Amino acid sequence: MITGASRGIGAACAVLAAKAGYSVAINFVSNEGAARSVLERVRAAGSDGLIIQGDVGNSTDIKRIFAEADKLGPLAGLINNAGIVDRRQRVDQMDVERLERMMRVNVTGSILCAGEAVRRMSTRHGGKGGSIVNLSSVAAKLGAPGQYVDYAASKGAIDSFTLGLAREVAEEGITVNAVRPGIIDTDIHASGGEPDRVAQMRSSVPMKREGSAEEVAEAILWLMSPAASYVTGTIIDVTGGR
Ligand code: NAP
Repeated sequence: MITGASRGIGAACAVLAAKAGYSVAINFVSNEGAARSVLERVRAAGSDGLIIQGDVGNSTDIKRIFAEADKLGPLAGLINNAGIVDRRQRVDQMDVERLERMMRVNVTGSILCAGEAVRRMSTRHGGKGGSIVNLSSVAAKLGAPGQYVDYAASKGAIDSFTLGLAREVAEEGITVNAVRPGIIDTDIHASGGEPDRVAQMRSSVPMKREGSAEEVAEAILWLMSPAASYVTGTIIDVTGGR
């Protein structure tokens, strides 16, 4: 199950997961056409898949998303990827609606999705184990001052959640890790009103370039793989050194 798999990092994970032999549940919230084209790429890679509309900011949708994905067979893993930013604002300009939306999608949504996955994968519930990878951000370490401190705080919560859940289910066959991307070339920057953000930030990256969605997906799929069987509660930075 990959939340937010119609575009960006989630879409790159879907294609790489298909190449690794997983059937892929491709969640999206509004862009059905993009989700369909990811499904075509999953099938071209030789795997099965499903597109599932649903808002991870809505608990009823989350239950339905996971129930629909059960049609693909027992859940093997969750990539908790769907996430949002918002317009550049100082904290003294932010209103409660913005903050509640940010936390509902990025934090509450990720925790509820992980709960659905644990109920299916944990040996405590009769499952066969599996892996969860959460999408954090280097903003959790940098704080994103003057840009979106609320987003940074939501990703800081993901870091703590990753550590706590990893230890909670460590004896139940489930690994829980996170990836902290830096400046990655996706639509998320335009959705925050800054389509030129990647070009503006490039020189601040030690490698002097942005990352691709595929480079982030490689780290995520490694964490999902048997090669990472003794890795849990770990957060991998994919930032070009930033
Ligand atoms: P993106 O290009 O904006 O794509 C977002 C994806 O999430 C889309 O598939 C979108 O679906 C879906 N989505 C958005 N809100 C949703 C909701 N409420 N419920 C379900 N799906 C939802 O994002 P991205 O850059 O790939 O980012 C993916 C993750 O990496 C996020 O958690 C982000 O915070 C994190 N990250 C990204 C960067 C970066 O530089 N790109 C850096 C650090 C961390 P639709 O297509 O239907 O809209």
